[in-house]
Amino acid sequence: MSQAGKRLLFIAGLLLAWLALLRWGNDLAILLEDDATSRSHGTPADGWLENGKRLPSRGDNFRAYSSLGTLLGRNAVHGSVRDSVVDAYAALAASHPATRYVYAETGWPSGGRFRPHRTHSNGLAVDFHVPVVDIEGTSRWLPTYPWNQWGYGLEFDSEGRLGALRIDYDAMAAHLLALDDAARNHGLRLEVVIFDPPLHAPLFAAKGGARLRDRVRFSQRPAWVRHDEHYHVVFAAAR
Ligand SMILES: [Zn+2]
Repeated sequence: MSQAGKRLLFIAGLLLAWLALLRWGNDLAILLEDDATSRSHGTPADGWLENGKRLPSRGDNFRAYSSLGTLLGRNAVHGSVRDSVVDAYAALAASHPATRYVYAETGWPSGGRFRPHRTHSNGLAVDFHVPVVDIEGTSRWLPTYPWNQWGYGLEFDSEGRLGALRIDYDAMAAHLLALDDAARNHGLRLEVVIFDPPLHAPLFAAKGGARLRDRVRFSQRPAWVRHDEHYHVVFAAAR
């Protein structure tokens, strides 16, 4: 083989290895995790995490916001939070089989400062991207790419619309209720949800929204960035 041919083969090999790492790196890291109990320390803004667990990259009805993010381990949480998130998706796969959910950033396996976020440091916070439907009402994966900051750069209007997509508030309420149920089963509760206050009304008007408003506390303060394309959920130990 010519020198140029060998070089091309080498580059193709590297590219394949990189793609495989992106596709399966997180799964491999999960296989290598031990089952030591997680412990959260400090506060969400200034804390750390012992034995953090990564969320799975994908399931029947959900996927992560970024293969690179999960490869790097930006999807780790306290083990009970992981179990709650996974159980909620499993419940939704039965109750809302056609709905697609995308989760976003959570934190490092050992917690600590998690730029550019101000919190997410002790394994108890998870960002979820809003579920969306198209004009026909069909559930779509929220588009997450490097050029839209993996979904964080998307901007929904005050009606919850973005081009042909709109926020599926029914699916979002169902998700938060399922998450609240699952959290209780794992000795946790939802401490607070941060979501753009002007979008609370349509969420509470959705199917299950009234129940959600009674069960879960939503922050009324405007957050440091507008939380329209994602909702930030903080878990705490059950009282
Ligand atoms: Zn967040």
